Amino acid sequence: MSELSAEGATPVMAQYLEIKAAHADYLLFYRMGDFYELFFEDAAKAAEALDIALTKRGRHLGVDIPMCGVPVHAADQYLERLIRKGFRVAICEQVEDPAEARKRGSKSVVRREVVRLVTPGTLTEDSLLEPKRANTLASLGRAGGALALAAAEMSAGWFRVAAVTAEALAVELARLDPSELIVPDSLMADMALKAVLNALGGALTVLPAIKFESAAGERALKTYYGVNELAGFGSFSRAEVSAAGALIGYLELTQKGKRPALMPLKHDGVNAFMAIDAATRRNLELTQTLAGERRGSFLSVIDRTVTAAGARLLSARLAAPLTDVAAIEQRQEAVAGFADERDLCAVLREKLRQTPDIARALARLSVDRAGPRDLAALRDGIASARIVRDLVKEGQGEAETSIAALREGLAAVSGLDARLNQLLVPEPPFYARDGGFICAGAHAPLDELRQLRDESRRVIASLETRYREETGTPLKIKHNGVLGYFIEVTPQHADKLMAVYRHRQTMGGAVRFSTDELSSLANRISEAGDQALALEKQLFDEMAAAALAVATPLSALADALATLDVASGLAELALAKHYVRPKVDGSCAFAVRAGRHPVVEAALLAAHAAFVPNDCDLSGERRLWLVTGPNMAGKSTFLRQNALIAILAQMGSFVPAVSAHIGVVDRLFSRVGAGDDLAAGRSTFMVEMVETAAILNQASGKSLVILDEIGRGTATFDGLAIAWATAEHLCLKNGSRALFATHYHEMTALAERLPSLACVTMRVREWNDTIVFLHEVVPGVADRSYGIHVAKLAGLPGDVVARAQEVLAALEEGREGHKPLARIDDLPLFGAAPPPKEKSAVEDALREISPDSLSPKEALELLYKLKSLLPSGK
Ligand code: ADP
Ligand code: MG
Repeated sequence: MSELSAEGATPVMAQYLEIKAAHADYLLFYRMGDFYELFFEDAAKAAEALDIALTKRGRHLGVDIPMCGVPVHAADQYLERLIRKGFRVAICEQVEDPAEARKRGSKSVVRREVVRLVTPGTLTEDSLLEPKRANTLASLGRAGGALALAAAEMSAGWFRVAAVTAEALAVELARLDPSELIVPDSLMADMALKAVLNALGGALTVLPAIKFESAAGERALKTYYGVNELAGFGSFSRAEVSAAGALIGYLELTQKGKRPALMPLKHDGVNAFMAIDAATRRNLELTQTLAGERRGSFLSVIDRTVTAAGARLLSARLAAPLTDVAAIEQRQEAVAGFADERDLCAVLREKLRQTPDIARALARLSVDRAGPRDLAALRDGIASARIVRDLVKEGQGEAETSIAALREGLAAVSGLDARLNQLLVPEPPFYARDGGFICAGAHAPLDELRQLRDESRRVIASLETRYREETGTPLKIKHNGVLGYFIEVTPQHADKLMAVYRHRQTMGGAVRFSTDELSSLANRISEAGDQALALEKQLFDEMAAAALAVATPLSALADALATLDVASGLAELALAKHYVRPKVDGSCAFAVRAGRHPVVEAALLAAHAAFVPNDCDLSGERRLWLVTGPNMAGKSTFLRQNALIAILAQMGSFVPAVSAHIGVVDRLFSRVGAGDDLAAGRSTFMVEMVETAAILNQASGKSLVILDEIGRGTATFDGLAIAWATAEHLCLKNGSRALFATHYHEMTALAERLPSLACVTMRVREWNDTIVFLHEVVPGVADRSYGIHVAKLAGLPGDVVARAQEVLAALEEGREGHKPLARIDDLPLFGAAPPPKEKSAVEDALREISPDSLSPKEALELLYKLKSLLPSGK
């Protein structure tokens, strides 16, 4: 935009260019009457992104100005699309009445200001947010060579910070899953960080490094919390202050000084969570499938929450399973409590279902973007909280804590509650500006004003009757936007009125008059309306202020309700799907009896098929299980189900098994060989090896490692060699609990050399030249890979199958005699080989015949039958 000089621009354009220059990285939504208009490059970008018409408006320096616009009333939907496509938007409003501007002179321009910057991490509107997804804003700071990551969620109100290493950054970002990460431009030069940061795509916002200055950050934090020292919150490193301070600065920048209500800054306990990197999350399809959908993901199968806040909390817990045994048990206790009280659980969930989203309403109130419905959400949320408190008198574990929080929170908000109940109508409108949300009879001065406003019709009608009688004409009192109220008669009666009334207008078919009486009545009516609106707005502001004054207890209520939703939801899941409470402790145990894969099980159930449960025990001597078996036998399912069980156990849920004993897992790794990775574009052998390297470098004796067909992305011998060495390293150096699926059954030879390696295999039964998968894990080794059987099941042409069998036989012979290729060379070529005999129905029938036992008539019938069995066309 630098080439656009304000010289020679119209006054409006000059104002536009000045504001645009100050917001160069944003699309500028410039308010013009009922539209937001975009100009120049902004217009071209937005028109393309939104698929709307690009037109022209006026000229600048002799060139047409490209323009597009969106109507203000529908702006949200356009904003949403732009934000999703990675744009940032600055909203520029008219901040004075056009009439005011005219007073300064006919050429003067209405004052405009940017009132808000819309960015993905700072949204509050329901129309721009997904109800079930947290909207986290994160910030990465660096000072003195150390990095720190801060994060906040405006609706939940939490705000945390922690030191982070460059190596751990990707894992931390995967856990936080921020909608937006702000970073100083200086960090983008760091090659190690650059790749991780760029992977965020549209969620990455690069800001000038000066915004991350730690001294300024400290001041911003102190001002935000109104404290003299940060020490009251804990002790923070300079990098942490840099990250957290920049985040607060960014919130104030985007909200133009309005302050979202955040709770005191806290340290995030990084080691408090099971570390799960992005590849593992993707591979286990935790929150979305490989195809990017929520449906069919692990989360979608375990989510029985009935509120959006509960769904967000469950998702957050799934993203960050705990490592602290006591904390895990607190959660388990709550689930167990509800699972024992089935009926109570059902009633509770019915109540929760009707609870509005308190947290999001509160977030909008705190940035002055709320409407009457948000107040109603608080009112109804408080009412729900009271019912829930009375319903669940005592709970266990975190349910007990939540009920106590409800009691305390409800006491603190009782004043607000009374006020909201007194003033608000049951179902208020969306916007405060049109009024109509305060109950009749709740506020005497408002009632009077409304009466005056609403009685206008009756008062006007009676005036009309009186004037008709006085003048003896069929006059009417009408209203329009230009004249306001006026008296109207047809021209033939006009003369009579000229003497008594004030003449205003003569039209084709009508003459219009006014009287002092009518004007003053009209004034009173319109004033009453305006005053009623102003009074309602004032009451709105009072209620909003009252709500913000108790923002902390309100957040606590919202948290407690969400927690109860999650605990009771997991209890219902456990009851419905027969999950059990796992024993979680600090050991290195991993013993699952009759474990199941929740997602595969659900899919099979939908197809009326049964899931075969399987045991897994990595507790003892044999910590690494080598799983062999043909394709489609269930290896990947078995591997993943155990990883998912570990996650469920540590997020405090029950697990799909008959029993489970899990020693806390510090890190979870799950990798799929390139050949199995469906996510397009990523399926290169290189990626697979980079990821395997990460595991071998990071996995500890407390980790759980899932390796699925590693080494498959390269030539057979390379692949086997890599898989072999990887398994050895895992056993001898890492000592992690591990499941290793492979179709290289040669690897089973490792079992003799590595005491910590056990061989298991997926049972299959050969039957009539084909195979049946039993999906059962048993000790032992797959005798062969059955690849050709599977190929046959898949419908490969019969001659290809037969040919493959020949080649395989040759290869296997060669393996013993060391010259496989020479032997294969001896085989006749594909085309030269005799076509395999198809089974002939005629021959089958002939074989069945015993000629001696046939009567002549039967023999004749048989001849006809044989003829009919001949393949057609021959
Ligand atoms: P593999 O990794 O050995 O090729 P998968 O784990 O991908 O096999 O499983 C293939 C299919 O077999 C699954 O999609 C599922 O339908 C079925 N399956 C796997 N495990 C089981 C099981 N334990 N019980 C029933 N069906 C199963
Ligand atoms: Mg597989």
